[in-house]
Amino acid sequence: MILGRTLESWYASHPLIRDLVQLQETTWFNPAVAPVAQSIGDVGLTATDVADASARLTRFASYLQRAFPETAYSDGIIESDIMPVPRLQQALAERYGQPLQGAMWLKRDSHLPVAGSIKARGGIHEVLKHAEDLALGGELLSLDDDYAVLDSDKARAFFGQYKIAVGSTGNLGLSIGIMGAALGFQVTVHMSADARQWKKDKLRAHGVTVIEYSSDYSVAVAQGREQASSDPTCHFVDDENSVNLFLGYSVAAERLQRQLAAAGITVDTQHPLFVYLPCGVGGAPGGVAFGLKLAFGDAVRCIFAEPTHSPCMLLGVYTGLHNEVSVQDFGIDNLTAADGLAVGRASGFVGKAMQRLLDGFYTVSDEEMYSLLAMMERCENQRLEPSALAGVPGMIRVHHDQQGYLTRIGLDSQAMVQATHLVWATGGNMVPGEEMDTYLAKGRQLLGTA
Ligand SMILES: *Cc1c(COP(=O)(O)O)cnc(C)c1O
Repeated sequence: MILGRTLESWYASHPLIRDLVQLQETTWFNPAVAPVAQSIGDVGLTATDVADASARLTRFASYLQRAFPETAYSDGIIESDIMPVPRLQQALAERYGQPLQGAMWLKRDSHLPVAGSIKARGGIHEVLKHAEDLALGGELLSLDDDYAVLDSDKARAFFGQYKIAVGSTGNLGLSIGIMGAALGFQVTVHMSADARQWKKDKLRAHGVTVIEYSSDYSVAVAQGREQASSDPTCHFVDDENSVNLFLGYSVAAERLQRQLAAAGITVDTQHPLFVYLPCGVGGAPGGVAFGLKLAFGDAVRCIFAEPTHSPCMLLGVYTGLHNEVSVQDFGIDNLTAADGLAVGRASGFVGKAMQRLLDGFYTVSDEEMYSLLAMMERCENQRLEPSALAGVPGMIRVHHDQQGYLTRIGLDSQAMVQATHLVWATGGNMVPGEEMDTYLAKGRQLLGTA
């Protein structure tokens, strides 16, 4: 019995669960997606909240530029560029035998400074928000100060009285740990079994305490929460529920708007923008998608991608059970090479907030992510970690639509010719060369190009 019902009964009411249980790649276009005007209120946050987060990141820019000189190129604003990927698009069309209309682009969060993944958005914003609250309250800082003063022994001694705890599959821990340690916080990262050794080593080199678990992400998070609950000086970064993480991610949209405009790309209802976002617990893709919906309205169509072994958000939204169901409840093992996406139970906050704002969800096998990793390198010379490839097949899924999705949302072939498809590449730049060579070798072997 699964949540009081037999598996057969689940298959009868929710046929796609069969694909999920059998680890088949699958796509689900969300019939409940609703116009932004009706659905944006579900989130309980507004454009003002996003603007506040954006202003905070601007206040911290002078500090970041000093503490992390690699951010100097953008004056202390942590941002990635976009690039067209026509050769990859061509190779994909050939691989799947599926003609593709419109243009494919890549958003290179894989190359975000400081943390080398999308977590450099939400994770760092959350640490900065906490630091700012403490510093303002402790009269170390006022809102009009130049925040570069925080790069000082005095500030580090002040923050050294406080702790930060987080549970992570790797990248969130990296971003919280690197940022928190730079400010002077005592940071503890509770790492799930999926976390790569180099991520733990790197954190320890930054003076972060890393506690390792032999179980999955949910246990690591529970341990972090436990540590913080008994210690009033400890701030727990709640990856499942944090609004400040979510808002940090959402700031990406206003910046993307400027980048697309600078590239001469129009986004409106006749020039739709499809965005493919790899999803773990849901905070990063959820926050980015929320920002995108505020920025582009109904012209943007957001689609989440998950591993076949960890389809927690698809399962949660499709059944309407959200965080009350885990993939393990259905016997799905949550074991995937896409360590950034190895989450068995989705964020209840994100699933409920975003369920009418997201156009669809699909799953990708580990073998496919490795193959696409090698294809990305061969075609476009971009080296990404496995999780970051999950968005690549999204354009295929949309074009292969067998659920009447495009008709339902009112897009004809003229609009599809004018569409932009943006693959959110969520991480990879910090992967050590040796590890990347292993990924590439595996991918090339699967592709038959070894
Ligand atoms: C964390 C992560 C994601 C997904 O973010 P969630 O907030 O867990 O949904 C995607 N890709 C990479 C590389 C990540 O580290």
